[in-house]
Amino acid sequence: MANAATPMMQQYFDLKSEAGDCLLFYRMGDFFELFFDDAKTAASVLDIALTTRGEHGGDPVPMCGVPVHSAENYLARLIRAGCRVAIAEQVETPDEAKERAKREGAPVSKALVKRDIVRFVTAGTLTEEALLEPRRANMLAAVCDVRGTCGVAACDISTGSMTLEECVPERLPAVLARIGASEVVAPEGWDDAPFDAVMRPRGDFASDPGEARLKKVHGVATLDGFGQFSRAMLAAAGGMVAYLEHAGRGTLPLLLPPTARASGEHMAMDEATRASLEILASQQGGRSGSLIAAIDRCVTGAGARQLAEDLSAPLADRQAIEGRLALVDYILQDPLLRSDLRDMLRSLPDIGRALGRLVAGRGSPRDLGQIRDGLSEARRIHDLLQGKPDRPPLLDTLLPHFRGHGELTDLLSRALVPSPPTERQSGGYVAEGYDAALDDLREVSGNARRAIAAMEARYREETGTPSLKIRHNGVLGYFIEVPSKHADKLMAPESGFTHRQTMANAVRFNSLTLHEEANRIAEAGGRALAAEEAHFEELSERVAARREAIAATAAALARLDVAAGQAERASDGEWCRPAISDEPMLAIEAGRHPVVEAALAANGERFVANDCALGEDDRLWLVGGPNMGGKSTFLRQNALIVLMAQAGGFVPARFARIGLVDQLFSRVGASDNLARGRSTFMVEMVETAAILSQATERSFVILDEVGRGTSTYDGLALAWAVAEAIHETNRSRCLFATHYHEMARLAETCEALSLHHVRAKEWKGDLVLLHELAEGAADRSYGLAVAKLAGVPAPVVKRARSVLDKLEKGRAETGGLAAGLGDLPLFAASIAAEEEQCDTLREKLRETDVDALSPRDALDLLYRLKREAGDS
Ligand code: ADP
Repeated sequence: MANAATPMMQQYFDLKSEAGDCLLFYRMGDFFELFFDDAKTAASVLDIALTTRGEHGGDPVPMCGVPVHSAENYLARLIRAGCRVAIAEQVETPDEAKERAKREGAPVSKALVKRDIVRFVTAGTLTEEALLEPRRANMLAAVCDVRGTCGVAACDISTGSMTLEECVPERLPAVLARIGASEVVAPEGWDDAPFDAVMRPRGDFASDPGEARLKKVHGVATLDGFGQFSRAMLAAAGGMVAYLEHAGRGTLPLLLPPTARASGEHMAMDEATRASLEILASQQGGRSGSLIAAIDRCVTGAGARQLAEDLSAPLADRQAIEGRLALVDYILQDPLLRSDLRDMLRSLPDIGRALGRLVAGRGSPRDLGQIRDGLSEARRIHDLLQGKPDRPPLLDTLLPHFRGHGELTDLLSRALVPSPPTERQSGGYVAEGYDAALDDLREVSGNARRAIAAMEARYREETGTPSLKIRHNGVLGYFIEVPSKHADKLMAPESGFTHRQTMANAVRFNSLTLHEEANRIAEAGGRALAAEEAHFEELSERVAARREAIAATAAALARLDVAAGQAERASDGEWCRPAISDEPMLAIEAGRHPVVEAALAANGERFVANDCALGEDDRLWLVGGPNMGGKSTFLRQNALIVLMAQAGGFVPARFARIGLVDQLFSRVGASDNLARGRSTFMVEMVETAAILSQATERSFVILDEVGRGTSTYDGLALAWAVAEAIHETNRSRCLFATHYHEMARLAETCEALSLHHVRAKEWKGDLVLLHELAEGAADRSYGLAVAKLAGVPAPVVKRARSVLDKLEKGRAETGGLAAGLGDLPLFAASIAAEEEQCDTLREKLRETDVDALSPRDALDLLYRLKREAGDS
């Protein structure tokens, strides 16, 4: 940048103010340049050189740049680092800029090429293959608040799927956790907006314009055909579409008709539950070690994305679950069919995403080829399944989606070469025989090329120079080249050659005939390219016209891949088909934890399977036993089995009968959330509070070591009260792990609570953990033995032993930690007593005729009531 007043600088600042808080990629020739703070950010994220250019306000202007041809890579890294980028392209050529300057009477030599922001690239609005992960959906969410109800729109721009839902504000974090959006937009000035949301104008999030926008996008007069949408949903949809219009600068990506998601359609899980069950990512953040990594046998990216969605939103409807299970079972029972199907699915291109790119105007000939191949393969899958007897109902609903594209695939097969390129600039993707005029043009340039080859041979003979060559480059076009020592002959005025360029060792010439042939090639080539381009546009439009049917085929193929993958996984691991029941029960025989089992198997170790049986009169299991004994593993495996079953898959157990769960809660292992300024114990209590206020008789709760983060007395007291509350008030099915022996006494008062422990024994002074669940309370805690096992030095363990002996002696004398619990009233009784007292007060107040009281009587009454409330 030169000094402050240059037009280029002005142009940059104008664009930058439009870009707002996005980094501005400013196109200059073959580079995108970044300036000022943008340059500093990009240089540090991308680890590229920060330089300077010119000055501004007396200081050098920081600058860095990335080459246009590899910009996608850099973009991907910036987006991953949480940046958003505005792309400012040159929208006219230097010649056009000069023409314009001439027209406007401005100095031509200083004509500045016009630039515009053509697109905003943000985490939620990507469609580029290179920027997306094949096995992960990329979600954008728009949320807003309409009179106390939150509207949520969720969209995967790469495939155009869109769902709308609403929820009470308290549930918004759980809904967003389920969606797992990489970008969230919310209206400006909304206090309860998610903390990392991109704020957009409030006016975008209004229901009437939202509805109008949706109708316009889908070209319909009413949305009734798509479902019933509330005002909150429409407002969120409006915000979503407006943001997409903004990001695409007016061009919208593929958007399929929205579907409304009813609350209660899915098993609910809050953010903490998802994180602790490590469903899509382990606590370390990666996919490895997660539930999905242990289950996923899908052979297509779209299948893996569908599986992730299934696991994120398990079903709550028995029939829908049975439908998925029946399909898995069907494919499992027929190993031959399974392997044929998986082979066919494996070769499928990602047609959902190819469609997304084509509709967004960023498609390539290869995307057309993928649509062709994918749809043809779908037809073959149809034919394979069509002949099979006893198809389950879900398969019958999928089947019709695998056919019906014959006309389009025929057209694409005729129009395109077998493997079309990703580049469209150099043409060559339209098949021979599709367009006679195009074939003629190609013939012309082919003839001319042959003519040039013949010309080369002729010139060699005529000039007696065997080393003469006719060559081509981007600057000169076609030219004749001879080594310098042979140049004289061609230099002669009557030779018919005209001199063009002298190089170090060679001299280059032109000739009239070469010039003519070269023109023929160039002209025919240009026209051929234009013809191919026109075909590309037309074919893309034909594809776009069938977008909904193609998207439905892609979705059906994904569903089939998920089922085939689940069947494969079940057969690999000897998993069973869970029976689904409406009763609040849980019966699992020989259940395993899929992730821990796989990790152990990798080391040649065996996983010990365990049973679990909860029912109305035995709904809370208190699980004791030493640390490292397998308590959390047991808790989690049962939660995961419920989740996997309701997602419609088989489960790692010999037998499982699952009573439908409305909400799953997991609080396992305290994890610090210091980023949000909360201590471990605080997080634990916040999460426990959520469970106590939300869990119902149909919920399943796993709680691990409640109260671990505080002092022994506090911890035991809290764990005790929480267990009682779940038993008495929430009445959920619950597995409750604790290392407080004292809690075993709860079994005396809670009739639907039973005691269990993970077994361990000491053998020759060493602790042996059996990882086996047994009935009854744990006999002791083995804390010192675990410490020894963990490698705590012997003198420290020995010292701990003598401290323990003292403590235990003291305990025997005083009755121990739980000594005072003998006369504790029952949980229900203690709550009832409080309520009762409160009720007599209310009764007295109701009976009082205030108008009939003298001021003195009124004062007396007030004193009396206060005394009765225990507050004298
Ligand atoms: P706790 O919660 O009782 O401290 P964990 O459930 O964390 O114990 O288990 C500790 C370790 O023991 C696990 O990492 C795993 O390697 C092993 N383990 C747990 N359960 C089993 C099992 N059923 N079979 C075999 N190994 C197990």
